[in-house]
Amino acid sequence: MPELPEVEALAEFLRENAVGRVVTRVDLAAVQAIKTFDPPLTALAGLELTGASRHGKFLDLDVSGVHLVVHLARAGWLHWRENLPTAPPKPGKGPLALRVHLEPAEGELPSGFDLTEQGTRKGLAVYVVRSPSEVPGIARLGPDALELDAEALGALLTGRHTQLKGTLTDQTVLAGIGNAYSDEILHAARLSPFKAADKLTDDELLRLYEAMRETLTGALDRQLGQRAATLKGEKRAGLQVHARTGLPCPVCGDTVREVSFADTSLQYCPTCQTGGKPLADRRMSKLLR
Ligand SMILES: [Zn+2]
Repeated sequence: MPELPEVEALAEFLRENAVGRVVTRVDLAAVQAIKTFDPPLTALAGLELTGASRHGKFLDLDVSGVHLVVHLARAGWLHWRENLPTAPPKPGKGPLALRVHLEPAEGELPSGFDLTEQGTRKGLAVYVVRSPSEVPGIARLGPDALELDAEALGALLTGRHTQLKGTLTDQTVLAGIGNAYSDEILHAARLSPFKAADKLTDDELLRLYEAMRETLTGALDRQLGQRAATLKGEKRAGLQVHARTGLPCPVCGDTVREVSFADTSLQYCPTCQTGGKPLADRRMSKLLR
């Protein structure tokens, strides 16, 4: 799932390549992706794209005061397209959800971008609204993970008896962090994903804060370096534990382990994070019985 660094990099890419251009047409290929009906998608045609920004993991395209807001969900992505086909796409075929055509710059081919979603579980959501706060998921967002200082993070965690992993990924507490970067942040902070959020010592809180900043800004810098040609998918480099079950931890060499849940999993290093003790994993113990 695209998280804060990926979505911020997409917004930056669109600020450089699409802002200032006029939307000529929007094609909807996946009917279930659109969550609003007023204003209609057709209201965007003929208006200039005036801004691109991010709210948590939501991408917000300001089209002269009408906002096209996108949540890429698990497997959604934005593909920049040179020489877009003019024929309308066939609805319900393939990964295409929405196509935005932009007025070509002088002497250039018509370009624009596709919103796509792989897989059968469709979660990509598109909203056309007068204000981003009309999108329920945006209205509920906590403060942005990159706009907090250590003190504010401490205040946010005070009184929360929930586990760190769930707390960091709860968008109503803190906006922008998902499954991948929460694994990375907790590993860098040398904290157990199951530790209670309100049980951190001052030293642990500072470690968590610094790990959060370094992990997110490092990932953002790597993402920003990507050019149009490489804006192909959600390629993440430099992951230490996330999606690395069974591989050695780059810090200590211990084997990265996993805890599975109904529809997700987390990865961690026992030596770095849990005093060498593996966390209980119901699925694993069932398999081993
Ligand atoms: Zn380790």
